[in-house]
Amino acid sequence: MPNPSIDDMRGIYRARRIVEAGLITTLFGTLAREQVAALRKHVQAEQKAFKEGRREDAIRLAGDFHLLLAQMAGSDELLSYIQRLISNTELYKALYDSAEAASCAPREHEQIIDALTTGKSLDKALAVAMEHLDELEQRVIAGAAAEQEVDLATLLNGGAAKPHAHTHSHEH
Ligand SMILES: [Zn+2]
Repeated sequence: MPNPSIDDMRGIYRARRIVEAGLITTLFGTLAREQVAALRKHVQAEQKAFKEGRREDAIRLAGDFHLLLAQMAGSDELLSYIQRLISNTELYKALYDSAEAASCAPREHEQIIDALTTGKSLDKALAVAMEHLDELEQRVIAGAAAEQEVDLATLLNGGAAKPHAHTHSHEH
């Protein structure tokens, strides 16, 4: 499978920002008590997976948090579109995100829940949610760029193949 290009990845994150800004706008101040409880329970599962070092589960659960929000908007069409975007960004995370950085996600998801429910303004909720996606994108793009430099350096060395420092491309 060819690795995604940086332009492809940026395009997917741009789509996520646009769609999820609409999602936050729709859900702001409208969530029922049991929906908020379901979101918080989900974040606890994310935290548990991360603490136990289950990286693949942590990545999948982090994506599922956004799907859970999308479900609450009540549109199957929207849900299937967001599902497609998120399955792309989960792959990017698995390929290029650093393991330590994944620990931020559950805390950031808590902040999104807080901003949606107890937040004072929609602008603030949007800022929190967009910052979350910006940070994800920046980490993934930085990881991908570093990876491409490594590949380029290998080429310039005439392919004098040291074993690749990263093993992720063989994980699956
Ligand atoms: Zn997230």
